[in-house]
Amino acid sequence: MDKLKRFALAGNPNSGKTTLFNSLTGSTAHVGNWPGVTVEKREGVYKSKNKEEQVSIVDLPGIYSLSPYTPEEVISRNVILNEKPDCVINIVDATNLERNLYLTTQLLEMDVPLVVALNMMDEVKKNGDKIDVKQLEKNLGVPVVEISALKEENLDTLMEKALDCSKKPRKGSTVLENSLLTHLIKDVEIAFRGKEVDNPLFHAIKLVENDEIETKDHPDLVKMVEAYKKTFNDDTFGTDFEAIVADARYKYISKYYAPVLKRNVQNENNKKLSFSDKVDKVLTNKWLGIPIFIVILFLIFHITFAEDFLYLGAMGVPFNNNFAGTPFEGLFWTEGGINSIGVILQNLVVMFTDWINGLIGEGLVAANAENWGVSLVCDGILGGLFSVLSFVPQILLLFLLFSILEDSGYMARVAFILDRLFRRFGVSGRAFMPMIMGFGCSVPAMINTRTLADENERIATIRVIPFFSCGAKLPILTACTGAIVILLGFGNADLITLGMYLLGMVVAIVSLILMRQTTMRGEVPPFIMELPTYHMPQFKSLMIHLWDKLKHFIKKAFTIILLSTIIVWFLQSFTPDWHYIEYDAETMEFLTPLTTNDSILANIGKIIQPLFTPLGFGSQLANFGWVFAVGAITGLIAKENVIATFGMLAAVVGSLVSVSDAEGVSEVYTMIQATGINTAGVIAFIAFNMLTIPCFAAVATAKAELKKGTLKWTILFWLVVSYVVSSMVYTIGTWWWTLFIWAVVIVLVGLGIYFFNKYRDQKKLIG
Ligand code: GDP
Ligand code: MG
Repeated sequence: MDKLKRFALAGNPNSGKTTLFNSLTGSTAHVGNWPGVTVEKREGVYKSKNKEEQVSIVDLPGIYSLSPYTPEEVISRNVILNEKPDCVINIVDATNLERNLYLTTQLLEMDVPLVVALNMMDEVKKNGDKIDVKQLEKNLGVPVVEISALKEENLDTLMEKALDCSKKPRKGSTVLENSLLTHLIKDVEIAFRGKEVDNPLFHAIKLVENDEIETKDHPDLVKMVEAYKKTFNDDTFGTDFEAIVADARYKYISKYYAPVLKRNVQNENNKKLSFSDKVDKVLTNKWLGIPIFIVILFLIFHITFAEDFLYLGAMGVPFNNNFAGTPFEGLFWTEGGINSIGVILQNLVVMFTDWINGLIGEGLVAANAENWGVSLVCDGILGGLFSVLSFVPQILLLFLLFSILEDSGYMARVAFILDRLFRRFGVSGRAFMPMIMGFGCSVPAMINTRTLADENERIATIRVIPFFSCGAKLPILTACTGAIVILLGFGNADLITLGMYLLGMVVAIVSLILMRQTTMRGEVPPFIMELPTYHMPQFKSLMIHLWDKLKHFIKKAFTIILLSTIIVWFLQSFTPDWHYIEYDAETMEFLTPLTTNDSILANIGKIIQPLFTPLGFGSQLANFGWVFAVGAITGLIAKENVIATFGMLAAVVGSLVSVSDAEGVSEVYTMIQATGINTAGVIAFIAFNMLTIPCFAAVATAKAELKKGTLKWTILFWLVVSYVVSSMVYTIGTWWWTLFIWAVVIVLVGLGIYFFNKYRDQKKLIG
């Protein structure tokens, strides 16, 4: 068999490359609105309808041009120039024709077969607009096919055209035929031909543009351009050849290409377009941008966690207990207010898992199973697993809401807003994209930092990504905040949860700035990202996101979390000299004089416990305080383990220390009552788990993505940050006046860095 043909998809971010790639190759890779999310190279195989032709397809990263300002641009350029695909499919967002064709004018200059796919034709048609494809084809000199990647319309025609094109070579052509620099470009092109370089036209134009890569590779030809510059001066752009070329491209596009689009004059949607601009005026407003982002975050958390939805209860609306005594009691509302959708879903899961647990327990007892067997299954395996599973609805809901923000194009705006704010501190908007992705999972977020050009910025970003609390940390947050609400007798779980998320973000930004000012200094590259147009998120791609997440979670629950819970069960059920600690779950009594407090787990816990004293969950706690230490350690394997461990131990501890049981959040609440930990200590415990070394998978990814030798510093960084921040939370929360001590320390550190940098810069100037 011949070698497979290879086609490359090139286009602007959000033009629908990934959607097209998925439709063509049938894979369900990540479909999102992050410009740059496809910076990993992805390949798949397209099979034509009759299965006669097979083509390998590579999805290039989204780019606006082929100049070498970003890694995506360099990757795309090099793939086309060096790997010479048999055809390039330039995917163009037809609702944004002029902007997208800018890249097309550059692709045309390469000696590679090219087909233009006019995507999003469904939207164009919906708006009643018309595109004269024949005319566009004539002007461009390459085939143009109207498609809808989303609705999978006309894809076979596109591939047929591409296959046809790939059979004959194509010579590059340019729209700069009649520009100010035509002669120079011609001369340089001839020189490139003399050197027998492939793609002479493309290289010539880039060299004239003073492109970094070309000037480095062909210093001899730079002289030609420099000589010409001496005789040249344009009124508008002087001798900035790059600007002259860009200007010529845009002028050509608006003169010859853009008129192919006939807008429907009476169309509502054309007015809507300017409406979207108006929306951006507000959402990306200098002063309103960040407050709006926080309000949106609050709404998300309110929908997911509130037990007093819309604060109706707090406003005095009486809710009586209509379902008292039935299984529905407390499901939809309590006396305090209506449950949010996230809480209702969680209640349903808890009802279901409790029922299963009871059923299995009774079954085992009826089958005369040994006491230890019942304990292993019910307390160990099921107790741990179920306490984690009960958070799945809220994790998925939160993830869904974040995906909607991402897919609609709003998150790109957030990066833009944050860029404006933090650029002066050495942090660019580009770095915020992977960070925000960290809300889902640190692993893909860390991989996504490959879009960052500056190596130091990349290292620093990878380090702070885990501070953006991921789905796996959610159980810790929810379980603890729920308990805090009961403990204090007031407060809202959603507000505390949001507060912890914001704390993570603030710590991330502050430590990122600190690193960029000290050990990880570097240039901030310009943030050239055009904001994608707003899109209605597509149900299908949302469901793909969600399904991926659920699959991942279930796999984790039944592998690493299951294994950890079994190990923890063994460690809690045996003493160091291997006596079984027998516990009867039904009567809730220990049948041996030994209790869990004598277990191996307890002994290990008690050894490490003093380490956490400055954080409020160490030696100051009463009996069983070691459970917090153990939880923090098991969390290093997978963050879900923290609550799984609590789930296993709480019932046992609860029977030893008389505790009033509170429905729903009983694990953590029991531990709080048993150990006498204070609220600040619980918050410090959350903060520590959120900020410290992330799970195994994230550490492994960091190791793979970081330069050799930086991992140990990264781990040290996580330990120090989590330790310092948690002790700050604990001490200030317990003795408010320590606030002043911390403030003085922070100011001194800040001043120290400021003056050190000044001194260093001065020395550099002199030296
Ligand atoms: P990429 O950044 O180029 O990979 O773009 P994506 O494939 O992630 O698509 C960006 C957005 O455009 C997503 O919300 C898609 O659902 C949407 N989209 C892609 N193709 C079409 C299409 O043909 N019609 C419509 N209406 N939307 C599309
Ligand atoms: Mg993509």
